[in-house]
Amino acid sequence: MYLYNSLSHKKELFVPNNPDLVKMYTCGPTVYHYAHIGNLRSYIMEDVLEKSLRYLGYPVRRVMNITDVGHLSSDGDTGEDKMLKGARREHKTVMEIAQMYTDAFFDDCAKLNIRKPEIVQPATGCIPEFIDMVGKLLDGGYAYLAGGNVYFDTSKLEKYYVFTEHDEEDLAVGVREGVEEDTNKRNKNDFVLWFTKSKFEDQALKWESPWGVGYPGWHIECSAISMKYLGEDLDIHCGGIDNAFPHHTNEIAQSESVIGHKWCNYWFHVHHLNTEGGKMSKSKGEFLTLSSLESRGYDPIVYRFFCLQSHYRRNLVFSWENLDNAALAYGKLIEKIAALRGGEPCQPEALEALRQRFTAALNADLNTSLAITALYDVLKAKCSDATKLAALAEFDTVLSLNLLPAAEKQREKAAREAAASADPEIDALVADRAAAKKAKNFAEADRIRDELKARGIEIIDTPQGSKWRRL
Ligand code: AMP
Ligand code: ZN
Repeated sequence: MYLYNSLSHKKELFVPNNPDLVKMYTCGPTVYHYAHIGNLRSYIMEDVLEKSLRYLGYPVRRVMNITDVGHLSSDGDTGEDKMLKGARREHKTVMEIAQMYTDAFFDDCAKLNIRKPEIVQPATGCIPEFIDMVGKLLDGGYAYLAGGNVYFDTSKLEKYYVFTEHDEEDLAVGVREGVEEDTNKRNKNDFVLWFTKSKFEDQALKWESPWGVGYPGWHIECSAISMKYLGEDLDIHCGGIDNAFPHHTNEIAQSESVIGHKWCNYWFHVHHLNTEGGKMSKSKGEFLTLSSLESRGYDPIVYRFFCLQSHYRRNLVFSWENLDNAALAYGKLIEKIAALRGGEPCQPEALEALRQRFTAALNADLNTSLAITALYDVLKAKCSDATKLAALAEFDTVLSLNLLPAAEKQREKAAREAAASADPEIDALVADRAAAKKAKNFAEADRIRDELKARGIEIIDTPQGSKWRRL
C-alpha cells in the first residue's frame, strides 16, 4: 500500500515495523462539545485506513486518547482550558461534560460505522505517565521550569519544524483568538508540558506533581498515551491536518527527546471539511453535527458516502446541495444492488478480478473515490449476481456503507408497498378484461377499462400480461 507521509511529503510504500501487528495512534476528540461533521470526516477516513490495513492482511492495534484536560482555547498554550469553558457553558462539572460528550462522540461513530479503537484512553486516567515523561524531559535537559510551569525547550532540537508543508491557514490555527504572548517562554515555540501557574485559578482538575499542583499540557497526553500502549515504535499516527502544527510537531519533539530515536514512521493527515465560509471548527461556535443532519432527514451513512467520494488529502466543501447529490447517488447504488439476485454460483476468478481493482484503489494512497467506482464496476461486470454480491459484501468490510443490509431493506420496502397496494377485486376485474379481450368481446373489455379508470386505476398491457397501477 502506498500512503502519503506528511513527514517525507511523499507517497511511500507502507512497511510496518512488524507485519504481525501494525501500531496505529489517533488523536481523539476534545470532549467539551459535540463533534462536528468536520471532526467526523477525519475519523471516517482514519477508519477506512484501519479497515484497509486489516483487509490487506495486517492485524492492527489502534489507540485513541480522549482529551478531557489540558487543551487550551488556543492550540498554543494560552487561553482557558476548553473543558472548563464547556462546563461553565452548561452549568455542569468538567467530568460530567467529558462523559456526556465522549458518549455522544461514540454514538456518532456507531451511526457512521466507525469502529471503536480497541484502546480508548481518557487523558485524566494517565496523569502518572505524563508526570513520568515530563520528569524524563527535565532530567534530559529538554525542559525547564519558568513562572511555575514546565516548558519544553525547542532550542535543544536540531530540527523542530518536521512538517514544513503547512499552508498559512493551518499554521494560523495555533495562534488564533489573538491571545497574549507567554513571557516565560525562552523561545517562541516552546510549549507547556505541565501547568501549575495558570491565569485560571478555577481550573477544575488539578493533580499533585513534583512541580506543584497542576495539570498536563495537551501535547504530552498523546505522546505518553501512545507509548503506554504501543511502545516506542509507532507505525502510523493520524489526525486532522490542523493538528500537524503545533500538536503533532510537539508530540514528536517530546517523544523523540525521551526515547532518543525516531518514534513514528508514517503521519496520516486528513484535510479539512470546509463550509462555503471556511474551516468548520468547534471554537467558532457555528458548526453542524451528525444529529443536525439526521434531523433534516439524512441517513448518517450518506454523510460517510459523501466523505468517501473525495480524497482525504483534499479539502472538502460541505453544502446541502453536495450532500443531496451524495444521497441521490447512494440511493441509486442501493437500488441497483437490491436488484441483484443470488442463486447462481459465485465465480472465484471473476471475484478475484473485481478484488484487484478495489485493492488497487486502496493501495493508491487510500483513493476512496476510486474504491467507490470499483463498486459500480462490480455492478457492470459480466459475472453472476452471486459473484457481485460476494464482492460487494467483501468491499463493504472496508467502506462500511451498509451496502447489503440497505439493499435488503430496500427490497423489503418494495415488497411492503406492493402488498399495501394489492387489491383482489381489481385483480379480478383486470382478469375479466383480459378474458373478454381473448374472447374478442372488445366492448366488454373497454367497459371494464373505463370502469377502472373511473376508479382511478390505469391498466398497463405488457407482453407478460396486464398490470395495473393507481393514478
Ligand atoms: P478536536 O476535538 O478539536 O481535538 O478535533 C478532533 C479531530 O478533528 C482532530 O483530528 C482534528 O484535527 C480534526 N478536525 C478538526 N476540524 C476539522 C475539520 N474542519 N475537518 C476535518 N477534521 C477536523
Ligand atoms: Zn494528539
